Amino acid sequence: MAMIYCRECGARHSDKAKACPKCGYTSEETLSKKVNELVNGKSMVVYLILAWFLGIFGAHRFYAGKTGSAVAMLLMSTLGFFLIVPVVISAIWALVDIIVGICNINTPEKIFVKK
Ligand SMILES: [Zn+2]
Repeated sequence: MAMIYCRECGARHSDKAKACPKCGYTSEETLSKKVNELVNGKSMVVYLILAWFLGIFGAHRFYAGKTGSAVAMLLMSTLGFFLIVPVVISAIWALVDIIVGICNINTPEKIFVKK
């Protein structure tokens, strides 16, 4: 049995203890709470799939709650259908979002707008 330091309050306690006896901190509880807080029930995987297949229409940005830029992408890809330039810009934008999304796969709070 090893003694570890509590990540929350710094008190020493057994690594077998489920929670810190001083402050009640449990790593599992904090982790699941953190995931729920940050992601609002949304998944980075879904975000990246949307960006890949429907990224040109801004689908992933709607999903992340970035409605303003999502509408801009949708307008560029639909209204600009006969003009190749806005479509290309929207496609590049979607590709950039995919790259940024992959870089932030473990920090979804940087991608998803908090409600
Ligand atoms: Zn503690």
